[in-house]
Amino acid sequence: MRAARGSFQIGSFRGIPIRVHFSLLIVLPVLAFLFGGAFRRAAEVAEVPSERLSGSPALWGLAVAVGLFASVFVHELAHTVYALRRGGTVRSITLMMVGGVSELTEAPPRPRDEALMAAVGPLTSILLAVLLGGATWLLQEAGSFNLRFALFYMASLNLFLGVFNLLPAFPMDGGRIVRASLTGRLGAVRATQVASVMGRAFAVLFGVWAVLSLNPFLAIIAVFIFMGAQGEAQQVRMKATLERVPVADLMTPRRVGVGAAASLEETLWELRRERLLLLPVTEGDRPVGQVALEVVRSVPDAERMTRTAREVMQRAVVVRLDEDGWVALRRMAEEEVPQLIVVEPDGTLAGTLDVNDVQRGMTLYQAREERRGQRAPRWRQERPA
Ligand SMILES: [Zn+2]
Repeated sequence: MRAARGSFQIGSFRGIPIRVHFSLLIVLPVLAFLFGGAFRRAAEVAEVPSERLSGSPALWGLAVAVGLFASVFVHELAHTVYALRRGGTVRSITLMMVGGVSELTEAPPRPRDEALMAAVGPLTSILLAVLLGGATWLLQEAGSFNLRFALFYMASLNLFLGVFNLLPAFPMDGGRIVRASLTGRLGAVRATQVASVMGRAFAVLFGVWAVLSLNPFLAIIAVFIFMGAQGEAQQVRMKATLERVPVADLMTPRRVGVGAAASLEETLWELRRERLLLLPVTEGDRPVGQVALEVVRSVPDAERMTRTAREVMQRAVVVRLDEDGWVALRRMAEEEVPQLIVVEPDGTLAGTLDVNDVQRGMTLYQAREERRGQRAPRWRQERPA
């Protein structure tokens, strides 16, 4: 549900779309420019005489930027391969400025697997840094200055990626390891809350540091971490709540939809009367699709009397009354539909469910829980859920 915004696809790996986040696109040219400018000093650090390097500083800058891109890619691929081997399903890989997001449709169920999945990225980066560093050292005597310089910088980038991602700043990898290690004792919700507070504290630190050092990269990273920590804590809380609420308690009940044989004129009248954008289409009392106001409106007036709801309906994504709210919300996101059709276990229409239904239902449920909490004896409130 996250990370897909602000990014576009560049390819795929075993059918998983690989996306690039705009933050990486902004950073690459800036990095190329900055590195080109600091070229002489960079050469000094690598103990390579800059006058003996061929190629312009700008070209080297570009090469380093592409190197960062490749390093982030390898880092992210390590997370993904591990998740796939653990039987997880990865929805997409998004490459961001520092690291990335491997979006899982289902997080590893065991905390140990989550910790290992988080650790495998930074460890791969550090291993790469060691290998590249070793190669730099081996080439000390022989080898061209150009190659040594390039290897040295790739080693540094990977070391930075590995160490930075290990900081316990949730939702970065280190923070995920912390969360996984707390989940056994505190439960998923409390563990995420603790990790999220740590993440936001780190974000504030990075923010202050960014201002003091006038570093725009660090400022962007700080914002990402802050928002990510907050967003994930919210999502985990929502999941914990919704898993306990059946769809029956959230939906808008509805026994009758637009008949599949109804004319579009009748359908339009029905949509307007109900003040709805979408209505289920039924045959007997079973849903067969749903019809959208804008689609009906786009049909010329003259044709509305002769054409039927069946001709313009879209497929219905169905959820059962007794499934839980989290399953429903995930299905909505995965199928990218604004509304689910709710059915009885025997397949007859029972209602509809959209994001507003879920939000309203959750607010009611939480208010009820709070009232119950106030009445309960103290020892009861403090028992973990
Ligand atoms: Zn990572």
